[in-house]
Amino acid sequence: MAVDPLTAPVNNALHREIGGVSIDVTPAGDGRVRRVVYPVGFRWSKHMKPIVGTDLCMHAHVGFLLSGRIHMQYADGCVVEFQAPQAVVIEPGHDGWVEGNEPAVLIEFDFGADTAKRFGLPSAHQHK
Ligand SMILES: [Zn+2]
Repeated sequence: MAVDPLTAPVNNALHREIGGVSIDVTPAGDGRVRRVVYPVGFRWSKHMKPIVGTDLCMHAHVGFLLSGRIHMQYADGCVVEFQAPQAVVIEPGHDGWVEGNEPAVLIEFDFGADTAKRFGLPSAHQHK
């Protein structure tokens, strides 16, 4: 069977798995390029919240969804959905989950805790 480049091990990347999420990280200057695979059935509040310890995911996510469909929900009830292929901009302060029956594969440009600031995004979702 041919290797699927969407999910195959990433060359020259550091691989780790957290809460069922597969992450391959490659350094890029002050930031990182990450290939993140969220499995079918993944939900941040169920699988990550116990590990992270915050009420909501407080990371910004900027990148490109290559495969799958994801649903984001902010504290004020605002909802955003992304379906591949689509660029992704998610402000800090969200729960999120994978919709449908295929894993969500996301390429992210990440500056750790500084991601929102570096992209000029608010430090938490602001209702417009
Ligand atoms: Zn809102």
